[in-house]
Amino acid sequence: MLVRIRTDNGLEGIGEADSKPEVVKAIIDAGYSHNIACGLRSLLIGENPLNMSTIWQKMLRGTMYFGRSSVTISAMAAIDMALWDLKGKCFDLPVYQLLGGRYHDKIQAYAPCLFGRDGRETRDIAKHWSNVGYEAIKFGWEPMGPDLKVDLDLVRGAREGIGDGLLMVDAGCVWDARTALQRANAFHKYGLTWLEEPLRSNDIDGYKWLRDRFPIPIAGGEQECGRESWRPLIDQHALDVYQVDLARNGFTESDYIRQRVEEIGARLCNHCYTSSLTVSACLHWLVSCRDAFVFEDCCADVQAGDVYELGISGGLLRAVSASPQQSCSGAIPDHGPGKHFHNSLPDVDRCRRNGKESLAGCGTHRRAVAELLRVWGL
Ligand SMILES: [Mg+2]
Repeated sequence: MLVRIRTDNGLEGIGEADSKPEVVKAIIDAGYSHNIACGLRSLLIGENPLNMSTIWQKMLRGTMYFGRSSVTISAMAAIDMALWDLKGKCFDLPVYQLLGGRYHDKIQAYAPCLFGRDGRETRDIAKHWSNVGYEAIKFGWEPMGPDLKVDLDLVRGAREGIGDGLLMVDAGCVWDARTALQRANAFHKYGLTWLEEPLRSNDIDGYKWLRDRFPIPIAGGEQECGRESWRPLIDQHALDVYQVDLARNGFTESDYIRQRVEEIGARLCNHCYTSSLTVSACLHWLVSCRDAFVFEDCCADVQAGDVYELGISGGLLRAVSASPQQSCSGAIPDHGPGKHFHNSLPDVDRCRRNGKESLAGCGTHRRAVAELLRVWGL
């Protein structure tokens, strides 16, 4: 769900929420019921867009009866992302500079992939992305979970395909803590960089128990929306790698979460499985994180001719982006987001024009683009 904010002096910022678009739209468009049950649009009208922190607090209070978590925070995150975009344009500075500067000229990108049906198919997928240039790959979700033999076959295949590169596994929230520990011990010889979301998201006690015993770093947090959602994980040191999604947290909250995670000596990574707008936002945020070490890329292959529902996949949205981001030799970007994007995030009208033009020869993506334009309300 893309959100566009225009100011009375003609500046425009865009942001994105990774949630259910119709619900986000309703939360923004809803009218005024009373002081703590307001739609977000009505709270923004008349505000100075540079007052991001006070606007965030105003939105929190104004949505208290139906918000404080999940999709309302995602909607606020999209607005916050758009406000930072506006600020970048207002001062003609990249967002990473507004966040305090960047530590990295280059971050290793990894390709997030779904497992194949078995180890052999997983190996072939890994070889494909390895040949594209990625030296780091993550595999996840089904059919991993119910069967140890199947799971070992998948991980073995992934390791064969990627060779000596970084390999991450995303279990997809499938196990109880004891089963997860058994799996981690079985996977250990395959040299995983991390095992992601082995447990259900709310099982904080399970994660804490597991982290004291796990032979592999544990990653998680992609579903968390806002600081209150992150607090139990961070306070209890439940993870080794905290995966922050800018389309669920925005820049203001993500910067706070970065500080908290740095305080406890853990590591940060972005989570990103939406459009080039969030890819761009993630880059601006991640290069401002001292300990960032890998970047989750949206690497869907446009050439493969896949159809992506709702226009939320990287392949499509690289096509509609003003400045498509794609890793080169496994790194993204080697000259920094400040130069790669004109000021901060791409201009939505250019996105729209580029999308229509670049999709002329790409019929399989037209349906998704139509959906994207509908969500934008264009
Ligand atoms: Mg994941």
